[in-house]
Amino acid sequence: GPVLGVETSCDETGVAVFDPARGLLAHTLYSQIRMHADYGGVVPELASRDHVRKLMPLVRETLARAGLGVADLGGVAYTAGPGLVGALLVGATAARALAWSLGLPAIGVHHMEGHLLAPLLEADPPEPPFVALLVSGGHSMLIEVAGIGRYTLLGDTLDDAAGEAFDKTAKLMGLPYPGGPALARLAEQGRPGVFRFARPMTDRPGLDFSFSGLKTQVLLAWQHSDRAEQTRADVARAFEEAIVETLAIKCRRALAQTGARRLVIAGGVGANRRLRAELAEAGAREGFSVHFPRLEFCTDNGAMIALAGALRLAVGQHETPEIRVRPRWDLASLPPVA
Ligand code: ATP
Ligand code: MG
Ligand code: FE
Repeated sequence: GPVLGVETSCDETGVAVFDPARGLLAHTLYSQIRMHADYGGVVPELASRDHVRKLMPLVRETLARAGLGVADLGGVAYTAGPGLVGALLVGATAARALAWSLGLPAIGVHHMEGHLLAPLLEADPPEPPFVALLVSGGHSMLIEVAGIGRYTLLGDTLDDAAGEAFDKTAKLMGLPYPGGPALARLAEQGRPGVFRFARPMTDRPGLDFSFSGLKTQVLLAWQHSDRAEQTRADVARAFEEAIVETLAIKCRRALAQTGARRLVIAGGVGANRRLRAELAEAGAREGFSVHFPRLEFCTDNGAMIALAGALRLAVGQHETPEIRVRPRWDLASLPPVA
């Protein structure tokens, strides 16, 4: 039956219903961005409390939109990590309680597997094997995907994640939180060729990333400029080009190394227009297919968690819902304490 998915790892409350037979039936999202904007970043305790307020109303609304009652569900999936521990606990507790009360299996989903599988929610989903570029607020990874759940890490960031680089650079240039999308919008007004920044770590072999030096280059360029509005857009454009080209170079390298012909891009930075255009173009030119989630499923959402949960539940993977007691219990089998 349909799987309810719950995402609460950071500052988005996301809920969705995915049916293995019929696809995505409904999804809702509440973003806490406005609340955290006053503080210039996510405040973990406020995030947890807001998930508590929003989650159950969103569950009700999502089920109503799907035209389902709780009795129609076949399982409940939730983000089990990584993320903010208090925020995760809200979703996990609600999902496990709901599953338990309905006698349904609960599935704890890895948030990054959710991002990675999000392109499978689209028409013409990519079949493994493929290479996945996961670029989000906390991660920049290249992954070889041999099958669902069969992941090999090819490259990782040595410092800032791609989304983090967008957010921090935006802040350095005086843009309000959350900076990443604002910086990308500004870059669209920037002129090409006015500034140029390095493509970090592309001059040596390997698939790792490093973006913190780029941030410093941007800061210096901005501080030594006339700080006019057009200049800010020009710097933003050069920064975006540097990140996008660096990611594109490493994607091509990963495809060559693995022999894969399909590339999946996911995570919040996957919403970046220049990145989407550049990789789609490279794919058309060089003969590999490129698969993105729709824009709203690049950043955190419940749909990717419902999908990942449904795929795992389909092969019998889930948490154990029972509360166990042991009629017979060998005293000698207890784990040592001291
Ligand atoms: P993680 O998934 O690693 O735990 P997260 O859940 O916070 O981190 P996402 O929700 O996947 O990250 O993505 C948010 C990130 O995406 C932010 O860093 C944001 O700046 C970035 N981002 C969103 N839209 C764009 C865009 N158009 N261009 C560049 N970056 C963007
Ligand atoms: Mg977020
Ligand atoms: Fe995320």
